[in-house]
Amino acid sequence: MYRLRILNIIVAILFSAVTLIAQETAPLPGPPKSGQIPPVHDKKLANGLTVAAGERHTIPLVTVQLLVKSAASDEDIAHAGLADMTASLLTKGTRTRNATQIAEAIEALGGSISSGAGWNTSTVSVTITPEGPELVLNGAVYELQQFHFHALSEHAVHGHRGAMEQHAVFKNLKDGTMAVVGVIYELGPKSHFLDRLINAGLPQKSGDETHSGHSIDLADGLTDTAAYYTYAGSLTTPPCSETVTWFVLKHPATLSKAQFEAFNHILGNNFRPLQARNGRVVRSTAGHDHDD
Ligand SMILES: [Zn+2]
Repeated sequence: MYRLRILNIIVAILFSAVTLIAQETAPLPGPPKSGQIPPVHDKKLANGLTVAAGERHTIPLVTVQLLVKSAASDEDIAHAGLADMTASLLTKGTRTRNATQIAEAIEALGGSISSGAGWNTSTVSVTITPEGPELVLNGAVYELQQFHFHALSEHAVHGHRGAMEQHAVFKNLKDGTMAVVGVIYELGPKSHFLDRLINAGLPQKSGDETHSGHSIDLADGLTDTAAYYTYAGSLTTPPCSETVTWFVLKHPATLSKAQFEAFNHILGNNFRPLQARNGRVVRSTAGHDHDD
């Protein structure tokens, strides 16, 4: 998935390009890795499912595998391949979600899902990184706090202001410094990202927060993260004293006239529609429901 970490990759590439030194001999092999498997705990649920869990807290990754004891070995010759085909359909829709909804839900978590059948078992696997959207600057991790919009844009590029500007506010929880990623919107083709926000429900008035029950991937609202203006500054709203590294993406996004009106109607000058919770954006329908 396309994530904000890409900014870090660019910074890292710049640094590694400077420090690259020609090496004539192959590096020595590192020490052998210990192949230790963490202790596995079994538990039987009321519905008969056995859960086997092994924890290793040094890796920010969760892998869940559902195994069903029915697979190719249960097929007769006339139905060869049926088990794998049936198992592969598990990610293509359920009673409550269709294929797109399943894919979107998994992608919003930065994860992946797969299913299939082997000889003895059919499996569904999900792997996710449990951390939320974050920005890494020179090795320091900044977590997404919230994002909001201004109309017109707060930044002017070559003296020109855009119709709207989106600010994603990140905070380094260790030292309290902030980083803001700004995207300027110009009138043009409609934005699918803004459509998702509008469908999720915008706040009633400027200053209100909206919490979304749907996961919204902030990365979808970014243009080319490799091209940006950056500067050290302060927040544009109180408290303005905090240190902020600003990244204003060079390529503007576009929004339709109708979308601009939907936002500008509320904005007047400024509003703050969405707050991130553990990296996911959470909505309430009523506008003031702080549901965590
Ligand atoms: Zn702002």
